[in-house]
Amino acid sequence: MYQEVHTQNIVERAHAPEVAELLRLFTRLAQGEAGAPHEALCQEVMAEFGDDLMIMVPTGDGDYAYGHYGREIIRYVGGNRSGERISQMSPQVARFTAECYDHALADGQPAYTVHRSLKTYRVCLWERLILPTTAATGERFLVVFSRPLQFREELLTTVLETSPCGIVALRAVRDAEGNIERTVIITANRRAAIIAGHEDEQLLDSDARACLPFLADNMVWRRCLYVIELRRHDMFEACFTVNGREVWLQLALAPLGDGLVMTLTDITELMIANLTLQSRAATLALEIGRERATRRALSHEIGQREEREQELRRLAETDPLTALLNRRSFTEKANAEIAACSADGDDASLIIVDLDHFKSVNDSHGHAAGDAVIRAFADLLLGLVRPERDLVGRFGGEEFAVFLPRTSAAAALRIAQRIQDALAIKQLPVSETVALQVSASLGVAIRQSEESFADFFARADAALYRAKHEGRNCIRLAGADIAVAA
Ligand code: GH3
Ligand code: MG
Ligand code: MG
Repeated sequence: MYQEVHTQNIVERAHAPEVAELLRLFTRLAQGEAGAPHEALCQEVMAEFGDDLMIMVPTGDGDYAYGHYGREIIRYVGGNRSGERISQMSPQVARFTAECYDHALADGQPAYTVHRSLKTYRVCLWERLILPTTAATGERFLVVFSRPLQFREELLTTVLETSPCGIVALRAVRDAEGNIERTVIITANRRAAIIAGHEDEQLLDSDARACLPFLADNMVWRRCLYVIELRRHDMFEACFTVNGREVWLQLALAPLGDGLVMTLTDITELMIANLTLQSRAATLALEIGRERATRRALSHEIGQREEREQELRRLAETDPLTALLNRRSFTEKANAEIAACSADGDDASLIIVDLDHFKSVNDSHGHAAGDAVIRAFADLLLGLVRPERDLVGRFGGEEFAVFLPRTSAAAALRIAQRIQDALAIKQLPVSETVALQVSASLGVAIRQSEESFADFFARADAALYRAKHEGRNCIRLAGADIAVAA
């Protein structure tokens, strides 16, 4: 329980101006520990201050009885306690009061107190001036000035008037069947009047729906009726136009008696800020979307270009008829392989293949059939080598080269033999119905150390020439000395 007790600087602390006057009279009459003479003080104060005074009589058992109980105090408390005892008050207040009275009697000094009221609900805080007296008979008394320091009504008024929210209380007016005919405004603060666009007008007692523009909205009105009828709280947002301005309100509704109280918060600025933010977010999302689309288009374009470049490179490197490496790229790649083999000290072999009497294939079956044979032979070659390692190229006409890195002469000869054997057992298809048997002559060379590709090739070519010369459809291995002779 809130409480204060002061014996010093009472005038400065007191709220009621009467306290200073009473204190002055007491001080003038006071006689040490006895306090003021009771009769003399009563004579001085009762006429003027009696309505705010109580006279407390010690009962001898630690309690106090109310002798006189002023009319103003009766009004605030709502009843006359004359004849009652302070122990009938709520225990906390009774204990506090008895202690204050005991001290004042013992000291003969006035005391000023403030305490929270626990039973008189209209009043929050009381202030008291306690003056100890002694009667001519030696009986002790206390003359107590008692006045509300703060009312709940004051608090409510202050809250209403300083609230940044509009607050309106409505009461339902019902017809004979009990249906709500209309609602009347029974309380409205200034902020509510401003929100409703009635700054200088009086809202009290007027029809709520006629005066408060946001109640014109059927949805809002229906929700108000639900709150009154169902006695439920509700909270929602609504937009309406007042004096040509669009206003966003948050409405909190709560039932109050046969009516309701509504708290109105103007959230227009919040909504505008929100909308601005939303529109900025939308613009940003749009820009991000555009940026992404541009990036996608760009990477698509780059991808296409890379594909085109790859295709061009492939076309530049390959023979259009067979898709084998052409002479230039074969030579380039073979040179690179030779460098790698030399560095590792590995062998490298080369086979040159020329189809025999090819001119007669063309002559007998036509140029297209000749092309088909060339393509089929290219496929056959690819099927006989190590796809990841060996190089197969077309050197023009019906002449092919196979470069075999890290391959000995014996292994190269085995591969040459496999080519020849494959031709021997397999006819090459030239159309869906026709296939031709062809043979080939092969020259094989194993690279000499430090030998250039040109010399290496020349020796393999010389071996091929020898194969042709020695009857065709055979394999010849180049000697180390042949290059010079060729
Ligand atoms: P040899 O056994 O001495 O090699 O006789 P050959 O007829 O194969 O050799 P020759 O060099 O006399 O003739 C090669 C023929 O290959 C000449 C040409 O008509 C033909 N030829 C060259 N390139 C192509 C081509 O791309 N397609 C076709 N169908 N024929 C080609
Ligand atoms: Mg030929
Ligand atoms: Mg030829």
